[in-house]
Amino acid sequence: MGGFYYHVGMKKIIAERTSKIDASGIRKVFALGASLKDPVNFSIGQPDFDVPEELKNEAIKAIKAGDNKYSQTAGDQLLREKIAEQVKGEFGWGKPSVLVASGVSGGLLLAFMALINPDDEVIIPDPYFVMYKHLVNLLGGRCVFVDSYPDFKLPIEGVKGAVTEKTKLIVLNSPCNPTGIVYSRDEVKALAEIAAEKGIPVLTDEIYEKFCYDGACPSIANYYDRVLLLRGFSKSYAMTGWRLAYVAVNESLSDVLEQMIKIQQYTFVCAPTPFQKAAVAALDYDVGDLVDAYRKKRDMVYNELSDKFEVVKPGGAFYAFVKSPVGAATEFVEKAISNNVLVIPGNVFSEKDTHFRISYATSNEKIKEGIEILNRLV
Ligand code: PMP
Repeated sequence: MGGFYYHVGMKKIIAERTSKIDASGIRKVFALGASLKDPVNFSIGQPDFDVPEELKNEAIKAIKAGDNKYSQTAGDQLLREKIAEQVKGEFGWGKPSVLVASGVSGGLLLAFMALINPDDEVIIPDPYFVMYKHLVNLLGGRCVFVDSYPDFKLPIEGVKGAVTEKTKLIVLNSPCNPTGIVYSRDEVKALAEIAAEKGIPVLTDEIYEKFCYDGACPSIANYYDRVLLLRGFSKSYAMTGWRLAYVAVNESLSDVLEQMIKIQQYTFVCAPTPFQKAAVAALDYDVGDLVDAYRKKRDMVYNELSDKFEVVKPGGAFYAFVKSPVGAATEFVEKAISNNVLVIPGNVFSEKDTHFRISYATSNEKIKEGIEILNRLV
């Protein structure tokens, strides 16, 4: 780590905590990809459509109407009320509290900051969305990864065995990035029972909840009260740059949400105000057609890859997590990239280096082209 630090006199000026996070895996892919001409880009984490016109107009309207100042720390009142109404209707929560955050990323940081003390343990199924690991580490917590290979179902027994006196939180992400797997009703119910035994809070990251291809995505919030529900606008409406999401809790975790609002006050201050205004309309906007188009992309990727590769059929999101045909997935990823296809090695999202992630959030032509190339490399 030595070279990473600058010195002022005898003092390091970069904080030690920065050494606990590492972005080298993804950076390497981008560096390798930078020299490619018009590659098939299977590395993107955002939809290939644009924000629906109607919602763009709502944001423009808000800007022109002068909604350009800070909102309340916890978010625009009307937006919060509408979200509270929706989660009340969906989960039967008695008294929901809502915080509008700057993306699910913002919500995750606030939640972890409000909950995690040094040495607290956070149980996370592996593979996982990479931010969980780095944020927990940044805060001095300890990730306890529970292996969900090879089918990526929720590893109930593994989670049960991982609970200790130090367990502070369990993190769920369904539909899952990077696997595209959707947890079943029975799985989330079983997890709810385990968490309930010791009253452990569960953070459920449902940013891909609209991208569910084989029926509804069951939420643990239906079966358990001590849940931090994180849902975003980034993926559902292709507004990743608008930085909008929400965190909702029922009464039993309202004290946690209060602390998160306090931290937001001294960090993000509030989510972008004009986009919060537009988000009120987004809550009623139907993205069914876009999801249908993504279901077709999912089918194409799965049907055309599964002859030559080992891949579990994804039920949601826009990712497939594919087993590398050679031992180390990083090796295969380098080969794919040198053949003009950008994919991400699984060890960015996992303690293992056996798989790679494909994001099929691109045009059907590019998907076809990329799959043909990958199939030729086996
Ligand atoms: N959670 C998951 C599982 C994600 O894949 C992402 C984005 N890649 C995020 C959270 C963060 O999204 P945002 O901050 O744009 O809401």
